[in-house]
Amino acid sequence: MEIEAPFKEIIEEIKEFGGEAVKYCYQCGKCDTVCPWNKVTNFSVRRLIREAAFGFPEIDREEVWRCTTCGRCVEVCPREVRQVEDMVAMRRIAVGYGVSPSFLRMVRSATAGLAAEGNPFVEDRAKRADWAKESDVQTFTEEMEILYFPGCFPSYDARLQNVARATANVLNKAGVEFGILGSEESCCGESIRKVGNEDLFKTLAKDNIKTFIENGVKKILVSSPHCYHTFKNEYPEFMVHFDVVHITQYLLELLNEGRLQIGKEYTKKVAYHDPCYLGRHNNVYDEPREVLKKIPGLELRELYESRENSLCCGMGGGRIWIDTDMEERFSNIRIEDAVELGVEVLVTACPYCIDALEDSRLGLNYEDTIQVLDITEVLQEVI
Ligand code: SF4
Ligand code: SF4
Repeated sequence: MEIEAPFKEIIEEIKEFGGEAVKYCYQCGKCDTVCPWNKVTNFSVRRLIREAAFGFPEIDREEVWRCTTCGRCVEVCPREVRQVEDMVAMRRIAVGYGVSPSFLRMVRSATAGLAAEGNPFVEDRAKRADWAKESDVQTFTEEMEILYFPGCFPSYDARLQNVARATANVLNKAGVEFGILGSEESCCGESIRKVGNEDLFKTLAKDNIKTFIENGVKKILVSSPHCYHTFKNEYPEFMVHFDVVHITQYLLELLNEGRLQIGKEYTKKVAYHDPCYLGRHNNVYDEPREVLKKIPGLELRELYESRENSLCCGMGGGRIWIDTDMEERFSNIRIEDAVELGVEVLVTACPYCIDALEDSRLGLNYEDTIQVLDITEVLQEVI
């Protein structure tokens, strides 16, 4: 299907949807030199920006859905073109025109699940707290210190449920009074917004905000940097401000206050992978490293591209719902880098990163060479 639209109309729409900055681009190409796609294939965000500035007639191309919103190009752009917002603006236009090519098959299914059950897996909303059945986890009440919001993957995905359970174990060990909202929790809406479905994002955000207010929530602890970014930086668009803390920040707080004690050694070589939405988008680089450095015996090594230059896992920007050919996965490069660095454990703090890195680890036959763990899974072994 080819979508043709009047150039002027598209230019106006790009502006309306937040992509006005495309006009500042002077085509230096710095964005393309850092974009991770160019490690695995040819992709030019510079060219897309240029086309957008001139009216962008074809919005059904796969390229429009490539950007993982990793933010690396944003850091080097001398003209503040705000490429992430531009890419999302194009997708919003495509959604507005009803564009839905075959490569968006999983996005369609995630959309249906989010609209019906508040999760992208089309799983029963009532099962959202099943991960906690055998753990010591209460329903949140206003008197509690903090709400733990695990998010969709740690609630439903078998691998990531271990992260939710590890988090609960660590919090219990530290004596934190916390609770969850279970079936009252909905997806934060981050990934569906990034693929251009603004209406569904607003519905999910309003549902969560209403639930938080009705339950007297003030402080929210999250496992996912995507939930963190959305609650902290995007929900204020609805005139609400919650105190949001990512688990890496909270763990450091608990350790520094002496509420959490490390009692065992962890004699392994470890590297930390910075998730884009924790690092580049929110400047949380030091806290996870500080936590890991407090563990006796643990040898922390730095990956080739880390901190501000961290390599994206490939799953942001809604790419979690779009198939990526095995040979084009950034997470493969990340796993190869970690193996070459000689580490036994690649630690991270994002459900999307864990999903991608685990897939690559198994796909590349490194099952016996390296582990991929969430930071809470390491902590639970040493407390
Ligand atoms: S880095 Fe910025 S100014 Fe340079 S080509 Fe990319 S978007 Fe345009
Ligand atoms: S945000 Fe990341 S994936 Fe998207 S165009 Fe920029 S560098 Fe490439």
